[in-house]
Amino acid sequence: MTVWQSQRFDDHEQVTFFSDGPTRLRAIVAIHSTALGPAIGGTRFWPYPDDASALDDVLRLSRAMSYKCALAGVGLGGGKAVIIGDPARRKTTALLHAYARHVNRIGSYFSTGEDVGFSVADCETMRQVTPYVAGTTSAGIGDPSVGTAQGVLEGMKAVLEARFERDDFRGVHVAVQGLGNVGWRLCELLQSAGARLTVADIRPELVARAAERFRAETAAPDAIHAVAADIFAPCALGGVIGRATIDALRVKAIAGGANNPLVSEDLAEALARRGILFAPDFVINAGGVLSAAEELAAIPGRRLPKFPPLAERLANIRTKLRDIFACARAEGTTPMAVAVRQAKEAIACEASAPA
Ligand code: NAD
Repeated sequence: MTVWQSQRFDDHEQVTFFSDGPTRLRAIVAIHSTALGPAIGGTRFWPYPDDASALDDVLRLSRAMSYKCALAGVGLGGGKAVIIGDPARRKTTALLHAYARHVNRIGSYFSTGEDVGFSVADCETMRQVTPYVAGTTSAGIGDPSVGTAQGVLEGMKAVLEARFERDDFRGVHVAVQGLGNVGWRLCELLQSAGARLTVADIRPELVARAAERFRAETAAPDAIHAVAADIFAPCALGGVIGRATIDALRVKAIAGGANNPLVSEDLAEALARRGILFAPDFVINAGGVLSAAEELAAIPGRRLPKFPPLAERLANIRTKLRDIFACARAEGTTPMAVAVRQAKEAIACEASAPA
């Protein structure tokens, strides 16, 4: 499989493959678009079954970052990185430094941060070598998943209005898939807001803790999507909603933190046919980017717009989704189609503007 032939390629500006013999680092950095500004995107450290899966994932994730940044209005472009391997066994300071040297070579064109398998501590380690990293406690607000979870909660309020004709969470049943940085924090917020939770994770110790801490019911990782609930909140990996999964869903809405939960964008139509409201992932999970905006602006080579206060930025996710839902209703299309179109228009408009 080559990069150019990948169905995910979608005119990426740059795809860079890195390796480092001594640490056995193998990483891919994909930069989808810098039309709106330097690209940002977290680093995912994951034991992909093969190189093609890693390439597929990074290309799809970086395009979603372009869309996310375009609609969040942060003056940044979209990129993403993956490191291939099991983080529990392969992650060392030497490997992170080798990776940071590679990121440094790309320069101000790309900066990175946390994602699945990649923590605030890992970003701090990278910062010893490169300034092109955000989501650190030494230079910024720290873990962006706090803002991501808050943003998802804001977005869920728009979902409550549009699909349930209410705006409070009391007694609303949410099935949360994945209890990592985003999922756990989302559970905290939902529980405080009065929601009822069912949770799942592939790590049984997290499930046991969540059951106690949130008085949550539990489900098997391969059955959480089929729980009869109001909202399904995917907060683990992507590609969890395919044709077969859609038939099994017993919720009225899907709204969560995970990037690319749909196997393909056109499945949004199948969801709409089943009366399931899907909140486009790259709109509802933009809270991390929005909360790290000042830190991102301070990275060398950045000239970003002036940002409103953080609470306002996060609340804008609700407004943005409300508009997207209304537009989709008016046009008889899906919120996903509207969001993709709006993001593409924003990117194309800037790309064609005179320098
Ligand atoms: P994380 O690694 O902290 O958590 C992921 C959790 O999902 C882990 O606990 C893992 O055990 C669990 N998991 C993996 N496969 C699973 C499965 N099949 N079923 C149930 N649980 C499973 O990652 P995170 O930072 O919380 O990110 C979660 C998702 O949100 C990812 O898709 C990420 O790209 C997206 N996202 C994260 C941020 C952020 O600020 N961290 C921002 C935007 C989007």
